[in-house]
Amino acid sequence: MKEMICIVCPRGCHLTVDEETLTVKGNSCPRGEKYGRDEVTAPTRTVTGTVAVEGGLHARLPVRTDKPVPKEKMFDVMNALHSYTAAAPVRLGEVLIADVCGTGANIIATRNM
Ligand code: SF4
Repeated sequence: MKEMICIVCPRGCHLTVDEETLTVKGNSCPRGEKYGRDEVTAPTRTVTGTVAVEGGLHARLPVRTDKPVPKEKMFDVMNALHSYTAAAPVRLGEVLIADVCGTGANIIATRNM
């Protein structure tokens, strides 16, 4: 049995997942059941951070992945953000790095700059 807190919504239900049968208990909605199963089979996370930006109002631009990436790829994605520099102007939602680290996810801007 694995215990975890569902992070899909602010309610934070305490989940118990049987790793053999993938039975989830403690969830208040179906999203928690999916989250619990995914956490023991193929955990993913949306990565948020900032990248350097040239010619902008600020020195850093907030970004995130447009979908969750495998948890084991998170540090690779963070390193990709660290070594990337955007050039202003940048629009909210603009794809800055496509298919980051081969994850199938894109790095997108989360504000105009
Ligand atoms: S199980 Fe449902 S209600 Fe509970 S934290 Fe997860 S998403 Fe929210």
